[in-house]
Amino acid sequence: MKIFTKQVEVKTGERVELRDITSEVQSLVEESKITEGIAFIHTLHTTVTLIINENESGLLKDIKRWIQETFTRKDYNHDKIDTNAAAHIAASFAKNSLTIPVENGKLALGTWQRILHLELDGPRTRRIIMQVIGTP
Ligand code: ZN
Repeated sequence: MKIFTKQVEVKTGERVELRDITSEVQSLVEESKITEGIAFIHTLHTTVTLIINENESGLLKDIKRWIQETFTRKDYNHDKIDTNAAAHIAASFAKNSLTIPVENGKLALGTWQRILHLELDGPRTRRIIMQVIGTP
């Protein structure tokens, strides 16, 4: 069994932003030379989440709108030391990590499934750690 680990940066441009990172993750799977196993990706931040969903422009706008309407800025305690309590709360109800099977050197994703990096307190430079675990 082989373990391939790499960190990648994602530079975000908006406060709430969805970015499709599927091709970057697939490139790392190929770089790993692992053909059967799992790909594990993990954000190193408390105001970012990783999701799998469809990359359809209307849906991305709807997700962004739902986040902004649901997690609005209020008189939160954390805002006394930082101005991003709503982003931390939104991130608490989503995922820090994703695990995706790797089959024949490819991420095993459904037709409409894409890996989306969801920034909740940008713009910032973010880091994702990725591990591919399996056999060549
Ligand atoms: Zn904070």
